[in-house]
Amino acid sequence: MSKLGFIGLGIMGAPMAAHLIKAGHEVFLNTRSKIPADLLTGSAIASASPREVAERADIIFMMLPDTPDVDKVLFGENGVAAGLSKGKTVVDMSSISPMDTKTFAQKINALGADYLDAPVSGGEVGAKAASLTIMVGGPDAVFERVKPLFELMGKNITLVGGNGDGQTCKVANQIIVALNIAAVGEALLFASKAGADPAKVRQALMGGFAASRILEVHGERMIKRTFAPGFRIGLHQKDLSLALNGARALGVALPQTAGAAQLMQVCSANGMQDLDHSALVRSLELMANHPIAKG
Ligand code: NAD
Repeated sequence: MSKLGFIGLGIMGAPMAAHLIKAGHEVFLNTRSKIPADLLTGSAIASASPREVAERADIIFMMLPDTPDVDKVLFGENGVAAGLSKGKTVVDMSSISPMDTKTFAQKINALGADYLDAPVSGGEVGAKAASLTIMVGGPDAVFERVKPLFELMGKNITLVGGNGDGQTCKVANQIIVALNIAAVGEALLFASKAGADPAKVRQALMGGFAASRILEVHGERMIKRTFAPGFRIGLHQKDLSLALNGARALGVALPQTAGAAQLMQVCSANGMQDLDHSALVRSLELMANHPIAKG
């Protein structure tokens, strides 16, 4: 059994760490919020700081909100870098900037340690069911060494390329998800305003060419008004900013992504940044002055 670390025990990190603990690994835990009590069982051990986690564990996983959080946990006071030694491995499973990831990897490599970026897709449901899609960037040999641990948390696990490429893949994922949510929202709004029952429309479309996981899961959330996260609008705004800032640097236009980001901004401006991203439909409803369902 390996000595592992897990830093960031929120909606995603807590169930992911639980799978590593359940498999019998010794897991050193740290998070800014209180460590969930149900995680502190068997081979799990609370640690006072990211530095202590890095001193005690050989492979350190992180699942943090945003790029500045990862920077702070790695290189801030009592950070991971201060506790690392040669041969250890840092695995960042947060969704953050691909460019900054390359810099973080270089700085960690300079300490004699390995680095993988390994963001995920599949949400809270996938984290709990250990069925996450994991998109990895980093050296082949390091990927092969960590892969059995990824297999405890996910199913579709791909080495996309070098450091940063896992994060680039995740940004691409978030573009597709955001545009699908906007498309489903517009379709259900149109149907509802025209007098059709959006629940029936969703049911009918699930059998045809417009079927998708987003129509299934987020479409249902829109109709049933179950907007508790899930994946927070604020976090998806962060991902679309990564896409649009990256596109600006690369000199490419992403007009649909820009549109979806504006709709999310409408949600945030109306106090909805902590709702699930399916609540993007609310921005369309506000503009149409027509809710597709009550609630
Ligand atoms: P969350 O806000 O629920 O959890 C983040 C955790 O990080 C919290 O427990 C917080 O205490 C901890 N944290 C923050 N700063 C810290 C610090 N300095 N030191 C130690 N711990 C710190 O967020 P989440 O929904 O679990 O998302 C985590 C990452 O996964 C994000 O990058 C997000 O974009 C990505 N993601 C989320 C989902 C989802 O459906 N929620 C799906 C795929 C990817």
